[in-house]
Amino acid sequence: MELPRTGIGTDVHAVSADADRPMMLACLHWPGVVGLEGHSDADVAAHAACDAILSAAGMADLGTQIGTDDPRWAGASGADLLTEMARRVREAGWVIGNVAVQVVGAFPRVGPRREEAEAAMAAALGASVSLSATTTDGLGFTGRREGVAAVATALVARA
Ligand SMILES: [Zn+2]
Repeated sequence: MELPRTGIGTDVHAVSADADRPMMLACLHWPGVVGLEGHSDADVAAHAACDAILSAAGMADLGTQIGTDDPRWAGASGADLLTEMARRVREAGWVIGNVAVQVVGAFPRVGPRREEAEAAMAAALGASVSLSATTTDGLGFTGRREGVAAVATALVARA
């Protein structure tokens, strides 16, 4: 009997120096919040979720799958990447059970939009997503508002 497999993913992006850069997090736009720097839309929650499902399936990580400098994915949304990585994981013979994501940062305030964000991520993934958030009590790069991080776990099983 083959047991289900867990995976883990982490992502960090720096807060943009451009105050007009949109904040994309957990497949949602967060109006009035300065965004994160990155080759794509810098959605740390979506990227961590991608890495978690790939990890669970033994398919390395986002950077290995698409290459961080692949022009086809420049400016790709987190939702698009999550949909594509989920497609690849399923194509490789896996069922995705669920993904849990924790955002680590001083902003944005996830709580008021948690259910909306879970629904947006679940729609992109095609499986259940639970989202939580924590601060680091003012400590470290997240506490200094220099960046936002996310950690994710995933469960997959053989189809
Ligand atoms: Zn990323």
